[in-house]
Amino acid sequence: MTRRWLFADQLGPHFLDDPDQPVLLVESRAVLARHRFHRQKAHLVLSALRHRARELGDQALFVQARTYAEARAQVHEPLSACAPTSRGALELLGRLPDVEVLPERGFASSRADFERWADGRTRLLMEDFYRDARRRLGLLLEPDGGPVGGHWNYDSDNREPPPRQPRGTDAPAVLDVPEPWWPEEDEIDEEVRADLDRWEASGEVSFVGRDGPRRFAVTHREARYALHTFLRKRLPAFGPVEDAMLHADWTMAHSLLSPSMNLGLLDPVECARAAEAEYRNGRAPLASVEGYVRQLIGWRDYMFHVYWHFGPDYGRHNYLAARRKLPRWFADLDADAVQAACLSDVLAGVRDRAWVHHIPRLMVLGNYALQRGWSPQELRDWFHYSFLDGYEWVMAANVIGMSQHADGGLMATKPYAAGGAYINRMSDYCGGCRYDPKQRRGEDACPYSAGYWAFLARNRERLEGNRRMVQPLRGLDRLADLDKVVAQERGRASTAP
Ligand SMILES: Cc1cc2nc3c(=O)[nH]c(=O)nc-3n(C[C@H](O)[C@H](O)[C@H](O)COP(=O)(O)OP(=O)(O)OC[C@H]3O[C@@H](n4cnc5c(N)ncnc54)[C@H](O)[C@@H]3O)c2cc1C
Ligand code: SF4
Repeated sequence: MTRRWLFADQLGPHFLDDPDQPVLLVESRAVLARHRFHRQKAHLVLSALRHRARELGDQALFVQARTYAEARAQVHEPLSACAPTSRGALELLGRLPDVEVLPERGFASSRADFERWADGRTRLLMEDFYRDARRRLGLLLEPDGGPVGGHWNYDSDNREPPPRQPRGTDAPAVLDVPEPWWPEEDEIDEEVRADLDRWEASGEVSFVGRDGPRRFAVTHREARYALHTFLRKRLPAFGPVEDAMLHADWTMAHSLLSPSMNLGLLDPVECARAAEAEYRNGRAPLASVEGYVRQLIGWRDYMFHVYWHFGPDYGRHNYLAARRKLPRWFADLDADAVQAACLSDVLAGVRDRAWVHHIPRLMVLGNYALQRGWSPQELRDWFHYSFLDGYEWVMAANVIGMSQHADGGLMATKPYAAGGAYINRMSDYCGGCRYDPKQRRGEDACPYSAGYWAFLARNRERLEGNRRMVQPLRGLDRLADLDKVVAQERGRASTAP
C-alpha cells in the first residue's frame, strides 16, 4: 500500500484506505510565513497536525520542513494523496515526482457528481443541487422517494428573531440551550503555543488577532464529542433562530463544527446521517434537522464545487467595481476603534475567537464591506486568514459571490445589502448602540441604514436589470434627502463608524 500524504485539512480516518496505511504528514513553516494568519488559526492547524502525528505513531512520517517540495525530497518512496482542496496545492502535487493524485474526499458529493448535475443547466441553483444530493444519498426521504414531511426546505420556519431580554432583570438575553462541547488543552497545545511565540518574536511570522484558549477540536475523537453534544443537546434549537444574533451569546445554537469539518476531522455524510437519526428517533424537530443537513450537504458542497466549476477567473470578478482598500482598523481587527455596537462586537469576536456564526459574517461584516465598496478580493483574503474555518475553496462563492455580489449574480439573485432595520429585527445590538437604526442622517444616523441607501445610489445602474432590486430601487427614488445621505456617507467613507 502506498504511503498516503495527508494534508492539514485531511486529518480524519476517511482519508485513509485502510486504518494501517502508512502516512506522511508535513508541517510547512513557509505557509505560515507567507500570510498574516489569525494566531488561533495557526494554533489550531498545527495542533491538529501534531495530534494526528502522535495518534498515528510509527505509522506516520511527520516531516517539519520549510516547504512541501523540501518535505517530498526527504521521502524516498511513491506517495498517494486525495486531491487537495486548492488549485495551488493540486498543481504543486502535479509537479512533484511520484505522487498519485486520487479523487477528493471530505465532501458529500464528488466533483463528478456536481458536473453531472450541472451539465446542460442554465442556472446552477443551490436548492436544486441540494435536492439532487438528498436523493442520491437517500437522506431524509420517504419510501416513495419524496422528502420527509412533504417539503424539501423548512427555511420559512427558521427565520425567527432572537428571544428578548428576560423581564425584570438586567441580564442580557441568551438562548436557553446547553453549552457546546469545549476541549481541554494538552501538552501539544502548550508546545504549539511556545513555538508560535518564538517564531513571532523572531519575526519569522506575524499574526492578526489575539491568542486564547483552544475552543475547537483537533482530533477525530474530539470532533465526535463536539458533534454528539451538538446533536443531542443543541440541534433541536438550531433551526428557528439560525439567523438571529445576541451580543451575550456568540454560539447561539450553531454546531461550531465548521473548523472540524474543514480540517477533515469529520465526514459530512456521517454527520448528516447522524442528524437524520435524531429526527427519526423523535429527538429533534424536522425543521432543525433539515436546516442543518441543508447547510452541510447543500451549501458546503455547493461552495466547494462552485470554486472548481467556475475556475480561477471567478475569484477575480468585481461586478460592482468596488476598489477601496480595507481600512486598517478592519484589517487589524481593531474592535475598540468602532462605536457601532453590532460591528464592534462582531469584530471583537473575530479578534478573540477567529470565529463568528453565519449571520454576523454575512449581514454585519460582509454587508458593511459591500456598502463601503471595499475590494472583494481584499475582503476574501481577510476572511481566509482571519477565520479558523477559512480555506481558499470556501471563500470564492461565499465572499466573491454571496456576500459581495462581485460575480454579478451567478451565485445569489440579489446583493446581501441591508440597513439597520434588518440588524435591529434579528439581534439585540441596536438597543445598546450610540446610533439609531431608524436615522439615516445626522449624528445618530446608523451607518448601516445610511450606508444601504448610499450603496443603492452608487450601484443603481448595475442593479437596475435585477428583478429582485425593483422594490429597493423604487424606495431609493422616494428618498427626498438622498443627495444629503450620499454626501454624508461619502464623508464617513471607510472611517471606523
Ligand atoms: C462572508 C462569509 C464567509 C464565510 N466563510 C466561511 C469559511 O471560511 N469557512 C466555512 O466553513 N464557512 C464559511 N462561511 C459559511 C458559514 O458562515 C459557516 O460555515 C458557519 O458559520 C460555520 O458555523 P457552524 O459550524 O456553527 O455552522 P452551522 O450553522 O452549524 O452549519 C452547519 C455546517 O454547514 C456548513 N456550511 C453552512 N453554510 C456554509 C457555507 N455557506 N459555506 C461552507 N460551509 C457551510 C459548515 O460546515 C457548518 O459547520 C462563510 C459565510 C459567509 C457569508
Ligand atoms: S444602530 Fe446601526 S450600527 Fe448600531 S447596532 Fe443597530 S444596526 Fe448596528
